[in-house]
Amino acid sequence: MTISESSGLSRRMLLRSTAAAGAAAAAATVIHPDVASAQPLAAQPTDVFAATKAAAIPTPEQYFGFRIGSEGKLATWDKMVPYFQLIAEQSNRVTYEEVGKTTDDNPYVLLTISSPKNLNNLDRLIEINDRLADPRGLSPTEAEELARTGKPFYFVQAGIHSNEVGNSQATIEWAHRLATEQSEYVNKILDNLVILLVPAQNPDGLVLINDYFVKTAGTNYARTYPDLYQKYTGHDDNRDWFMLSQVESNLNISLLNKYHPQVFQDSHQAGTNAPRMFTPPYLSPYDPNIDAITVQQTDALGMAMQRGMTAAGMKGVGWGMTYDYWTPSRQYCVYHNSVRILTEAASCSNLAYPQVGNGPLGSQESSISFIEPYDQNTWTLRQIVDIVSQAFYSGIEAVAYDNYNWLYNFYRVGVKAITRTSPRAYVIPAGQRDPQAVRDALDILFKGAVEIHQAQSAFSAGGQQYPAGSYVIYLNQPYGGFAKTLLEVQEYPHLLQYPGGPPQRPYDVTAQTLPMLLGFKANLVTGSFSVTTKLLTEIKPPAVTMPAAPPSTGAYVIGPESYGVFQIVSRLQKQGIPTFRAAAQFVDAGRTFPAGTFVVPPTDAARQILQNQSRNTGIPISAISVVPRVAGAQLKPRTRIGLLKPANNIQSGWLMWMFDQYEVTYSVVKAQDYKNLSGRFDAIVMPEGVSKSSITNGLNRNNYPEEWSWAFGVGEDGWSKLRDFVTAGGTLVAYGSGANTAQQLFELPLRSILPSDSSVFYCPGALLSQDIDTLDPVAWGMDPHHPAWFDGDRAYQLTDPNKYPVHVVSKYPDSGEQLQSGWLIGGEYLNGAVNGLSWTVGSGSVVTFASEIAFRTWNRGEEKMIFNAMYHGPSQKLTPEQFERLGR
Ligand SMILES: [Zn+2]
Repeated sequence: MTISESSGLSRRMLLRSTAAAGAAAAAATVIHPDVASAQPLAAQPTDVFAATKAAAIPTPEQYFGFRIGSEGKLATWDKMVPYFQLIAEQSNRVTYEEVGKTTDDNPYVLLTISSPKNLNNLDRLIEINDRLADPRGLSPTEAEELARTGKPFYFVQAGIHSNEVGNSQATIEWAHRLATEQSEYVNKILDNLVILLVPAQNPDGLVLINDYFVKTAGTNYARTYPDLYQKYTGHDDNRDWFMLSQVESNLNISLLNKYHPQVFQDSHQAGTNAPRMFTPPYLSPYDPNIDAITVQQTDALGMAMQRGMTAAGMKGVGWGMTYDYWTPSRQYCVYHNSVRILTEAASCSNLAYPQVGNGPLGSQESSISFIEPYDQNTWTLRQIVDIVSQAFYSGIEAVAYDNYNWLYNFYRVGVKAITRTSPRAYVIPAGQRDPQAVRDALDILFKGAVEIHQAQSAFSAGGQQYPAGSYVIYLNQPYGGFAKTLLEVQEYPHLLQYPGGPPQRPYDVTAQTLPMLLGFKANLVTGSFSVTTKLLTEIKPPAVTMPAAPPSTGAYVIGPESYGVFQIVSRLQKQGIPTFRAAAQFVDAGRTFPAGTFVVPPTDAARQILQNQSRNTGIPISAISVVPRVAGAQLKPRTRIGLLKPANNIQSGWLMWMFDQYEVTYSVVKAQDYKNLSGRFDAIVMPEGVSKSSITNGLNRNNYPEEWSWAFGVGEDGWSKLRDFVTAGGTLVAYGSGANTAQQLFELPLRSILPSDSSVFYCPGALLSQDIDTLDPVAWGMDPHHPAWFDGDRAYQLTDPNKYPVHVVSKYPDSGEQLQSGWLIGGEYLNGAVNGLSWTVGSGSVVTFASEIAFRTWNRGEEKMIFNAMYHGPSQKLTPEQFERLGR
């Protein structure tokens, strides 16, 4: 493969290109300068010793025993890590750092690659970037000087999607070449740029996928690892860039917050029939909170990559298709002034085997954004390695040769952020109903380097009064755009494929409004206001005071409003501490407690747990001196929760993360468990993505070794055993497409009422209006209008209210605006449709939510209803007389 060689960039040309704003495009022409006028730029003194040491580094082929990208061969992480360490030991251009450990305790690795001079000066270069990222108090003249002396940082990561194997394999060759090649081309790049290389953004997945591939060589088994390639998220590990829930996301943003790279390249593979390589420009829309300069820089760099591939004779490359620039779930960097370069190479067959077609692969229709269709009928892993390498080198070359503009434009983006005058701020009032929701939001913003202030006294802003302790997030700060996009209502543009035609599908979902997802208030203030605040240096739960122990006739009580309360419930469950819930509102000492309030008899053991957990969560505990005479329930001590988690079902994985965070005692339902479901579980949760087929067929036992027997299908017999589990008294909680599966299982009298024609009805991930009956145990503690997360889901009409006893937990309003945030076409079809239903089936109970009440842990405010349902079903129902005695 020919990597474009260019012979020089003169200091004069570089300086000249600094002069004008918008010179990025002009400067791109400097990549192939006139050789005669070129002078070496900051030429390296010849370091004979270093060159000798570098020469001692084995080539990838020598080290791994095969050429990278060879058919049927994948390098594994246990060999890649020592190779990267060896390169760093032998080369003065590369440093190796283990940034931390992953979810499964693998090393998360960063290679920093630049000239020896830059690496020796790295602290100063980071300091310059830091100053340009937050330009408060920096004059344009000072910024120019910093842009002249600094170096852009180019962050490139591979392998977030671990079955897209080519990119992480290619990083082996990148590290070797940049460490060893003694050429003017490489020297110039390294003199002008610092490359931050994360060869595997999800090392756990690289281990799972590549090791499994090697292990199954020579067998008849399928070669692709069949389960989630990150413990909780699988492919959704690239949808976590604003909730920042996963270890790997946090390791990644710790690097972005430290280095402030100008470029963030995220290297992927698409399907076998996709263009051979996609790079930006993206499709519309882009989130308006991404600065216009950042969008333009993205386009310019993507086009430089496209040109590089085309110049090298690579066909089938294109831009402006499939991928948009909308959701923060796929991009943290762009709200931190860095461009996001998504690269998507076409995949080959079975990870590492040639894809062979009957004719040329991929679309053969030429267009201005897809100029030369691919003209061969095969596509190999080696070709993937070559094309992603060409794109990478064209990318680093373009930035290295235009380094002043990249730095100065980065500064300009920062200036625009800090000089924003309207809107002015978001205020998150103190004392909200769900302290966990507020805290989770503050944690996200804090991790996102957003400055959060706390009011030192009561104040008024935008015509509203706020108590002391309220949080103020000024938007004229470097990363104010990150706060704004997460706190505001999204207005997704109405994009059709053609006038009057079907909608243009967003690449992911359309809403990320944290106050609606989590359930708290954040008020936008447009004008200026005055209040004395303190900048927070950490996020702590609000201080709580444990009440004095109530008399033996009384109890501790905990409100049901916060979803965080289930962290407390988990601890009580683990210790077998008696825990009750009042089924109706009651009043004690003039204070009203809503239905669903937790009531805990006042033992020393209970007090210990409540005190610790209340302090950790900021959820207040109260005491009552007399237990009210109301109906109620006692949670089954050590309720046994089962989670249906078919192999590779992402939504089950996300719920598992939430369960682990909250220390819920649960286990995944295995094929072997169907012999005796009632003996193993009290309640079973059936998430989105669980279908009849995933239960009855499961993984094909002929294709996978015995270790996967837990995920093998259980047939019609197992299917009927799941039905028996409920009729004999078990609880089934189903949501999203899982609700449809429950409908099939019990022939629930529901009719799906939404039009299937997407030009008539369409909702690709948005927040909708919802009316909730908070007297139903499933919805205890809910805000009665908490929005529903809806992602291409169903909505139902109840066709026979008498087939099973049934209660409507939630529905869509009968009229009015159904859309709260995001994009919705045909909202009127939702009018009056039912969503959440609570059924009695035999001696058991079934709860169905047609919408996704647990979507990637984003809508935690709704997710609480899963916890309510799975503990309430198996609980013992008590009369007012029984409740009053609390089992005493
Ligand atoms: Zn991908």
